[in-house]
Amino acid sequence: MPRSLAALLAALLFLAPDADAQRMRAAPMTPAALRTRLEVYTADSMRGRMTGSADHRRATQYIANELQRLGLQPAGDDGSFLQRVPLTHTALDTATTYNVVAILPGSDPALRGEYVALGAHSDHVGVGRPVDHDSVRAFQLGLRRAQLAAGGRITPEVYASVRVDMDSLRRRQPRPRLDSIFNGADDDGSGAMGLLEVARALATERGIRPKRSVLFVWHTGEELGLFGAEHFTDHPTVPREQIVAQVNVDMIGRGGRGEERNGGPHYLQLIGSRRLSTQLGDLVEEVNRRGRYRWEFDYQYDAPGHPEQFYCRSDHYMYARYGIPIVFMTTGSHADYHQVTDEVQYIDFEKLARVTRFTRDLAVAIANRPERPVVDQPRPNPRGTCIQ
Ligand SMILES: [Zn+2]
Repeated sequence: MPRSLAALLAALLFLAPDADAQRMRAAPMTPAALRTRLEVYTADSMRGRMTGSADHRRATQYIANELQRLGLQPAGDDGSFLQRVPLTHTALDTATTYNVVAILPGSDPALRGEYVALGAHSDHVGVGRPVDHDSVRAFQLGLRRAQLAAGGRITPEVYASVRVDMDSLRRRQPRPRLDSIFNGADDDGSGAMGLLEVARALATERGIRPKRSVLFVWHTGEELGLFGAEHFTDHPTVPREQIVAQVNVDMIGRGGRGEERNGGPHYLQLIGSRRLSTQLGDLVEEVNRRGRYRWEFDYQYDAPGHPEQFYCRSDHYMYARYGIPIVFMTTGSHADYHQVTDEVQYIDFEKLARVTRFTRDLAVAIANRPERPVVDQPRPNPRGTCIQ
């Protein structure tokens, strides 16, 4: 092809309006920006991002590429955004998997050696056997409703009553819509893409560069037992004692009416926020008031001894065991948790955008305090068992 024609075609391609690129120009942390990212990150082609799989590697590379484009500082191994995590704990011991680690340097030379850590997890549970989407959803919705009505417990009677409903649905369903991919749109696509938008906001919006540095870690291996967070905190790429707090987001796009008791647009669960530092717990409340978010925080799962064990079940605990004050934010569990139906179509993007903005505001508030949050509660034993 003549050179001038090739140049003309290239120019036309360059000028062609690209719907995705246009939507990506949406302001950071808006519902549109989050939807665009989540549709990419949790697409069927990502095949459920099973920890250590090639699909998961592709997902982590997407995050790393975006960080590179945004100009964040790599903080993984050898000047890259990736920290290798050996999967020695599991049957997958030949798999290589990676944390994605980046730093946004602080603006205050006296404080930029300290870090506010923000975390989410990049992995999910992969692909399963084909099941009918609508039957699974009807059954799980019924079970969730019955579970909430029974005060959170699933009794054999509750289970039996829901089964009957699903059998009748099966009879009405002439052609099943088979689905085998666990997209993990809420778990933890919502948190992973929320953090990426926080990174974009802090890196690109003028006038909000925080004083302390912000350390972003997308952990691998959460679904297999918090291995990525364990590895990062055992082998941190910044001095561990310089991490002043960690904010973890896992499942932040749901929690609507009927999904949790008192669920709704202002429903948000807080776990662990006062377990090491009363000041940090107070600061979360203050950011809520000052930013007029009107969150109605649900602290029920933070109760000592709560049977759901949420304090011990996500990455933040790996930081807390070293005495780093943490806040775990989640919109809670729901009917699609760990089902093939955890898909983008059920995400509340307006709420996800608000949790994302709140995460940014909280990070900035911690980063700009004159003093780091004081640890005034007993520290756990880093090698001991987590106690809810
Ligand atoms: Zn999760």
